[in-house]
Amino acid sequence: MTDAQALVKTLDFQLDIQSDNESLLYDATLEARSVYNETIRLAKEGVDWDAIPDRVADDANLVKNTTQRVVAKALGAMENYYEYDDFGQPSHTKDGAYPLRANYEEGYNLSLTDNGDVAFRISAKPYKHVKGVLKGSDAHLDILKTALTSDEWKIGTAEALFHNDTPELHVNVTNTEQTVRDKQYSRTVVGVDVNEDNVALTALSEDGIEDSLVIDFPEIKFERHRYFTMRKRVQNAGKNSIHDTLEGREERFVRDRLHKVSRHIVEWSRQFEKPCIVFEDLKEMRDSIDYGTRMNRRLHHLPFRALQFCTSYKAAFEGIPTAWINPEYTSQRCPLCGHTERANRNKKRFKCRDCGHQDHSDRGASVNIAVKGGKKLDWNVPALNSLPTVRKVRRRASGAVDAPTVTQSTVRGYQADGRMGVSD
Ligand SMILES: [Zn+2]
Repeated sequence: MTDAQALVKTLDFQLDIQSDNESLLYDATLEARSVYNETIRLAKEGVDWDAIPDRVADDANLVKNTTQRVVAKALGAMENYYEYDDFGQPSHTKDGAYPLRANYEEGYNLSLTDNGDVAFRISAKPYKHVKGVLKGSDAHLDILKTALTSDEWKIGTAEALFHNDTPELHVNVTNTEQTVRDKQYSRTVVGVDVNEDNVALTALSEDGIEDSLVIDFPEIKFERHRYFTMRKRVQNAGKNSIHDTLEGREERFVRDRLHKVSRHIVEWSRQFEKPCIVFEDLKEMRDSIDYGTRMNRRLHHLPFRALQFCTSYKAAFEGIPTAWINPEYTSQRCPLCGHTERANRNKKRFKCRDCGHQDHSDRGASVNIAVKGGKKLDWNVPALNSLPTVRKVRRRASGAVDAPTVTQSTVRGYQADGRMGVSD
């Protein structure tokens, strides 16, 4: 992932279709599905990716660059699978609508009407348009109207899709003026350790550790396991359509959680002076000898890169930069004396074989990530003599998810002095 962070925002609208051809739009989303499927099928067959757009475009009954956008999205899903395995191998047998992705002023157009609405025109098929006005929240409509009239925002691609049978348009806009602070000017680094059932956070300044927090979300691990088992069962029974439905539900569940967890990370980070959020760079993980069962488990349960991306995107809108560090040894190194050994760690329990320091192991990893982040910014990272008590909050599947970060906290005794209450 590069350091450049474009401030892209997605605005969601419902389509009030006034051209009396909603079915045309629906047909186009079915056509987008077959473009997607064909792209995935060809990629699985081993066809050169560069040759796929032309092969698919010849048969597709869509505006040409809309076809290209859908092909690019499908290849993106394949690439994501090969690089990160966020959601498993993409399927090429699903049916039903697929979002129609279009370029602004090519596949779709927007304009302000005399009575203050935003009119849309989507080229659902070549030379066939769906027209009407956008409905949505005032906040999103305001940004879009600003984007249509000022240079501060630029309008980008959009996706037309059906959500609970309602046609929608999701428009990407880029803010060209708002900036993310240069990370060299950061005063706090927030190390983020992402695990199968929690995210551990540590804020470090040049004065030492400011605070630590472990956010538990056991239901993600539970639900993903449940979906995985169900999918395997129907797959073995040869029922592709049920398999695909489950996959879609699982993906929506996980995406919803990702947004909540990432919002939580950004909210927590904001309280510190000039924060920079630091993640482990998975690309560097590949060659690392630390890549083992722990890593595989983490990747399986939580789409790692999606969470990093989601967090980085939300942080950018707060002006908060993001940095990536090499994850080697972050889970084995003692944050106090630096002694590094695999045996220091036993599941959630960390005990240094050299100095005897004990800790919640994921919290310890987040300290190490923060320390590496500080070094990356050329700080004089202070020697750590003790660590603050770990606070834990538990995120429930519903209800408490939007509550402020710390009010639900359950204090547990992960102490650096040897008295440790590991309950997991
Ligand atoms: Zn130690």
